[in-house]
Amino acid sequence: MSNNTSTSSLQQTPSGNQSPVQQRTPPRKRSPKDFDFFEIIGEGSYSTVTHAREKSTGKEFAIKILNKKHIVKEKKIKYVNVEKSVLNKIHHHPLIVRLYYTFQDSYSLYFVLDLAKKGDLLGFIHKMGSFNLKCTQFYVAEIVTALEYLHKKNIIHRDLKPENILITEEMHIKLTDFGTAKIIESESDNARANSFVGTAEYASPELLNDKATCKSSDLWALGCIIYQLLAGHPPFKAVNEYQTFQKIINLEYTLPDEIPDVAKDLIKKLLVEDPNHRIGADTPEGGGYEALKSHPFFEGIVWEKIHHQTPPELKPNPAVHFEKSTSNLDDEPEFLNENNNELYYHQGSTDFSKTDPEPAQDNTN
Ligand code: ATP
Repeated sequence: MSNNTSTSSLQQTPSGNQSPVQQRTPPRKRSPKDFDFFEIIGEGSYSTVTHAREKSTGKEFAIKILNKKHIVKEKKIKYVNVEKSVLNKIHHHPLIVRLYYTFQDSYSLYFVLDLAKKGDLLGFIHKMGSFNLKCTQFYVAEIVTALEYLHKKNIIHRDLKPENILITEEMHIKLTDFGTAKIIESESDNARANSFVGTAEYASPELLNDKATCKSSDLWALGCIIYQLLAGHPPFKAVNEYQTFQKIINLEYTLPDEIPDVAKDLIKKLLVEDPNHRIGADTPEGGGYEALKSHPFFEGIVWEKIHHQTPPELKPNPAVHFEKSTSNLDDEPEFLNENNNELYYHQGSTDFSKTDPEPAQDNTN
């Protein structure tokens, strides 16, 4: 019987023998024609996110459509490229939004992403007022799991906040929005990441004082999120950004009785001015992720395969009355549109030298 294996699918070794390593056919490039587009599920400052289904597989996705002209006009090319390269550096983490394909046509860039059907964590905070300790523990443990992975890969998120934590149909998180993330190339980079986009309430003291961010700046934001989930409002919130910044710089926040003691202790260890001293920081004082994950706040959490566990049923903190959830604001909050709660610091930015981004690459295997 003849061996009918095609030699084209096998590599020749120098000795002329066939290697069992099969050559891979390059993945087929997708295009908008491969998808059915349904309703718009969200809008960003320079993008529209649409629910879509791949025709050949029936698989559902969220497709982020970015208008090329608008990106160039608004000088956002750098952010789009950063988002793409960070997402490509993340290999299928179950708690981080996955980028499946990118492609473009004359008008738009398309990012095909995991679909998170239940919106974002902020939506749930608005709906429930707050989370009880059990729910807070679980969702914070998922956030910590995603952050630990990112930090191991030398990625700083730099805009960690409830809006950027999407929720899947199964009620697990998918961390998103990597347009302002930073890939650390060297140790000095870690100490100083000079261009930043973030959100006032979650900005760290080192950002405001030194215009510098590091991995531990994400841990500061984590402390703000734990506080917000349990109390219903973030720890540093004032009538305007300037006053919010003053509160952050002066570490001016109170821990209300509604927050259980075990959570108060963790928040106090995260909302520390010196980033090296925050629990979880990769320093002798911070103890790394081991110290963070073994804090009593996480007692009962099984860290392995947390994304396969059944999330607890969402319940509000019984100590927080819904109408009390914004009660520590100094005044009515200023109206915030989609962008005006964001800070833009561009120091010597080399943004947008190109008029058109490099062609998106299909990143499937
Ligand atoms: P900006 O660009 O102004 O920072 P953004 O980062 O929120 O805003 P997008 O990433 O374009 O902008 O997302 C816009 C909205 O679309 C989000 O607020 C969210 O509600 C929704 N969205 C984004 N990605 C997904 C996804 N993968 N699944 C479901 N909804 C999503």
